Amino acid sequence: MIKTAVILGAGLGSRLGELNKNKPKGFLEIDQISIIEMSINKLLQAGIDKIFIGTGYQSQLYEQLALKYPQIKCIYNENYKITGSMCTLYNLRDYVLEDFILLESDLLYDIAGLQILIHHNMTDVILASELSSSRDEVFIETDLNNSLINMSKNIEKLGPVDCELVGISKLSYETFKDMCDYAETFFESNPGLDYEYVLVGIAKEKGIHVNKIKDYTWCEIDDEKHLHRAINEIYPKIKSQEIIRKPLKRNILLNPGPATTTDSVKNAQVVPDICPREKEFGHVMQFISTELTCFVGNAENFTAVLFGGSGTAAIESILSSVIGQDYVIIINNGAYGKRMCEIAQVYGMNYIEFESPFGEAADLIKLEEVIQQSPFKISHLAIVHHETTTGLLNDIASVGSLCQKYNIDFIVDAVSSYAAVPIDMFNMNIDYLASTSNKNLQGTAGVSFVIARNDKLENIKHIKARNFYLDLYSQYKYFIENGQTRFTPPVQTLYALKQAIIETQNEGINKRYDRYSRLWHVLVRRLNEFGLTHLVKEENHSKLITAVIEPECKLYNFNNMYDYFYGNGITIYPGKINTLNTFRIANIGDITMENMVLYLDFMEQYLKNISFL
Ligand code: PLP
Ligand code: MG
Ligand code: MG
Repeated sequence: MIKTAVILGAGLGSRLGELNKNKPKGFLEIDQISIIEMSINKLLQAGIDKIFIGTGYQSQLYEQLALKYPQIKCIYNENYKITGSMCTLYNLRDYVLEDFILLESDLLYDIAGLQILIHHNMTDVILASELSSSRDEVFIETDLNNSLINMSKNIEKLGPVDCELVGISKLSYETFKDMCDYAETFFESNPGLDYEYVLVGIAKEKGIHVNKIKDYTWCEIDDEKHLHRAINEIYPKIKSQEIIRKPLKRNILLNPGPATTTDSVKNAQVVPDICPREKEFGHVMQFISTELTCFVGNAENFTAVLFGGSGTAAIESILSSVIGQDYVIIINNGAYGKRMCEIAQVYGMNYIEFESPFGEAADLIKLEEVIQQSPFKISHLAIVHHETTTGLLNDIASVGSLCQKYNIDFIVDAVSSYAAVPIDMFNMNIDYLASTSNKNLQGTAGVSFVIARNDKLENIKHIKARNFYLDLYSQYKYFIENGQTRFTPPVQTLYALKQAIIETQNEGINKRYDRYSRLWHVLVRRLNEFGLTHLVKEENHSKLITAVIEPECKLYNFNNMYDYFYGNGITIYPGKINTLNTFRIANIGDITMENMVLYLDFMEQYLKNISFL
């Protein structure tokens, strides 16, 4: 890999003169940073760690820059007034003893050009772009294999031309030596020799490849016109292109969703603007709907109905749309079971709350008694599969059997279990299931969905709608008939969800749950070693989120602990139980074992800081 760069910065920049306060061209500033410093930052980012600058005019400015960047070494060309770029380069021959990237000092360029040269399999490559019409172009003539034939500012001197010199090249040490030998014979008669001329001279003997890039964003700045174009057109364009490609900072989210996503999921959101009524987008939604269904059932008998909204939207859609005048039993053994009761209450629906202690498996014998003894007809039963409040995993297979026995339709809030804990809607007798894009699916927030049995969905048309947006039958029917959601969908979130589904398929739900479980075992073991305990016995635990009992220690304070972790790129979560002080750590999302160990190391440090350990 190339680690060295050479910047030719000796010139007077006389065409800019006063415009640049008589400084070398590299010290032109855009957005309060000089273009030479922009270039240096790009070189460092591309892995270059040694930068030689051939200086001349006002060399002290470059010397000052070298104090800020220890990677820079300046080599002064004392004859800069009467010599050209080749002499400045020649001056470096005792210092540069390896392959290098050669750059001019007056360039603004997209870092992609550097990366192409650095990774190019040929050793001598010059970067070329389409014609810029900048009026100071160095035109390049190549043969059919894109080998250099000739270069000139005068196009008349050349054969057919379709590209121009950018001013960034990769040269091998061998070629550099050849250039120096070649130049020596000319210096006396032509001290103003430029390096382009020498490259052409040696190209006759050895191949020099010209790498043409289409749509490459760059410019050089020689005069006032160039400067205006640089500021108004090229700089903003380079900036936005580089931002799009820049890797995003990775945060470790140990809250129970939105979970940490992969970069590929995040990047999938950047798509050309598209109207969601396009057929092409309809295919995206069809894929999503079918594949979401296939994670828990077969797509012949079940359908996934999508909504723009959070997980609660899907739950509210089910509860408000599928229950007629009869009663629904809602199992409440956590905050999300309680929330379903609140929804039923808002709609004035008939419901029976089956309260059961937080963090313990629900008593199914008692539940059956409630069903048997109810004076009202029980048409539905609703349960939260994974109570995110505590980490309790409710036994939906057994509850599903009870529902089957009493001919009750079964509703499951699988918001925080779906795509991790395996679910089989048919065998578990589940009629309606709700979930969301941003938890174990590892997508971004904004899509919630209901997966339901088709015959049930067809039947609910007889129930009078209690709301408009969340009416499940209308949403289902519209999707079946039009392949679209009734209202504007979250377009970019759906693109991310498509990518997240593909990544879930590639990993496989069982394997994903294995990965999460391994993280959980490490988490719980270390927390125990610290002397901390958690709610819910292992046999009833989801292994996805853990409610940890707060340390009894004077200096402990959740908010301080939260800030300590947040400052280190890790997000933890407060508890959600009124009667017991807990905080929560989730182990879902694109989280690795290293991330979990990092959290635990910080946790150990925090507990030491507060003298708990
Ligand atoms: N149900 C359960 C089990 C949850 O864990 C959550 C959120 O954490 C919800 C429902 C509500 O989801 P949302 O916040 O996306 O509306
Ligand atoms: Mg020029
Ligand atoms: Mg120039």
